[in-house]
Amino acid sequence: MANSDNQYLLLTPGPLTTTQSVREAMLKDWCTWDDDYNVGVVQHIRQQLVALATAHDGYTSVLMQGSGTASVEATLGSVIPAEGKLLVINNGAYGARIAQIARCLNIPHLNWSLGEVAQPDVSELARLLAEDPAITHVAMVHCETTTGMLNPLPAVCETVKAAGKVMILDAMSSFGGIPMDIGDLGIDFLISSANKCIQGVPGFGFVIARRSLLEACRGRARSVSLDLYDQWQCMENNHGKWRFTSPTHTVRAFAQALTELEQEGGIEARFQRYQTNQKTLVAGMEKLGFQCLLAKTLHSPIITSFYSPASPAYEFKAFYDSLKAQGFVIYPGKVSDADCFRIGNIGDVHPGDIQRLLEAIQASMFWTGETATIGEQA
Ligand SMILES: *Cc1c(COP(=O)(O)O)cnc(C)c1O
Repeated sequence: MANSDNQYLLLTPGPLTTTQSVREAMLKDWCTWDDDYNVGVVQHIRQQLVALATAHDGYTSVLMQGSGTASVEATLGSVIPAEGKLLVINNGAYGARIAQIARCLNIPHLNWSLGEVAQPDVSELARLLAEDPAITHVAMVHCETTTGMLNPLPAVCETVKAAGKVMILDAMSSFGGIPMDIGDLGIDFLISSANKCIQGVPGFGFVIARRSLLEACRGRARSVSLDLYDQWQCMENNHGKWRFTSPTHTVRAFAQALTELEQEGGIEARFQRYQTNQKTLVAGMEKLGFQCLLAKTLHSPIITSFYSPASPAYEFKAFYDSLKAQGFVIYPGKVSDADCFRIGNIGDVHPGDIQRLLEAIQASMFWTGETATIGEQA
């Protein structure tokens, strides 16, 4: 198995388990102004990202140093003009982070807070947009990694476009793992990062943007290092050159990850694998007595939240340690008002891994009294 030299499988939403070949791609040093890197690697990646996102003309891409949040902040800070106003569809920690960025950058905004287990209602959205004509931009998270909820993207985009607003999508944990055409949907700015469904390593994010809108963003940025327009201009005018030191090894690993996505059969094939992982996981977990936080119709193939067992003998840390000792790292919950844990299925993780995980979980259910205790297992 490609990941067999890893000490354990990361069932987390990024960084995630990468293939050995992706990690090996980092074993060379690259010069940031040489054509081998700029033209050969960066420009090629930029084109591939646009091709993965849409069959429509008129889109371009920008890569940005930092974790995914830096690309969200670069987009909000560079795209929304001083006289603009942002509507934030907030139904989880990442939606809340968008509102936090808007607050910190002094961007006028309406934080439409829906709690963490409800989806936006599009007639309500249409009403909010009609009521406040000052709103120019709408931002939403596609897959809310907080819970694993997949937001109703086509309906939301249709409503936003009907109202004539600019649509900004945080597709951090979904791009590359869920098929979509951003041109069909009318998405103007899509943000994602290297270490999620493309299955690269952390270090940079990227934005796929409607070229005509990005062209209008000159001089708008509220930050120097996170100026999306300047970064884009530098890449456009200098064959893929980044303004400041680029994460060369990470970028090279990402190029390899994109090749492997293609070899797998593209986004549709990857989506099928993630979907099989998720459905196998949920069926197996329910058989073991676990309950999902969300109704199944709200699930994404990316990550799933489970209620913690009600038994007073259950303790997340002991459960986590037991699974880790068996080669699986899971994720704590992030929902504010429910006791949960999360299991992701993105990365170099296959249905056979999920089967082994389910066996490891069964062997770790010390609180039921029916299995060995942690001490006995060790
Ligand atoms: C991972 C993620 C981010 C970015 O997180 P970073 O820790 O900054 O990489 C943003 N939004 C969503 C939905 C995510 O899953």
